[in-house]
Amino acid sequence: MYEHKNFPNLFIIDHPLIQHKLTQMRQKTCNQKDFKAALKEISLLMGYEITRNLELTTKTIETPIRPMEAPALRDPTPVIVPILRAGLGMSEGLEQIMPGSKIGHIGLYRDEKTHLPHEYLVKLPDPMGLSFILVDPMLATGHSAKHAIDVMVKRGVDVKKISFLALVGAPEGVAEFQKSYSDIPIYLAALDEKLNENAYIVPGLGDAGDRLFGTL
Ligand code: URA
Repeated sequence: MYEHKNFPNLFIIDHPLIQHKLTQMRQKTCNQKDFKAALKEISLLMGYEITRNLELTTKTIETPIRPMEAPALRDPTPVIVPILRAGLGMSEGLEQIMPGSKIGHIGLYRDEKTHLPHEYLVKLPDPMGLSFILVDPMLATGHSAKHAIDVMVKRGVDVKKISFLALVGAPEGVAEFQKSYSDIPIYLAALDEKLNENAYIVPGLGDAGDRLFGTL
């Protein structure tokens, strides 16, 4: 994992397995089943990387041999917040490594003309004492991610306790997001070239939600 030279606080997770699986997902011949499986696996691997700084404490346990002071997470695992619907494909992988995590949901759809997000559902746990990972595979214009963070902050989530995990980003989206939230770390598997006139990422992987759920 490295910090991008043009965007402080943007981290690219360049693990070979993640990169290989992303290449499989990008190909237009990748079917729905393989796309979904790869997204879940990548999210699990990215989750492993971005949780390496979770604080540890110790607790007393008893092994079959004797008691010991053993390491344990100090705080509850982060709340996972998928932006519906494509974010659901990533939350599954994160849940696998952090079973029992609370899951928030933020439902947004984007207006096809203005490309601006419209909110239709928000369900979040009481944020007291919790950290949050917002997930959405595509960081395209940055409007949805920014809107989702606005919603979380309005509901009392501490901005210092949020990170944003996506799969593929466009420089335009990173810049837009960082105009408002430069302190929130962004984690991507790849920063692509640009957005096209329909606000799709180039080369990207197409519409993540449609490919994940087999819709058109
Ligand atoms: N949403 C997607 O699913 N794909 C893009 O390329 C941009 C936004």
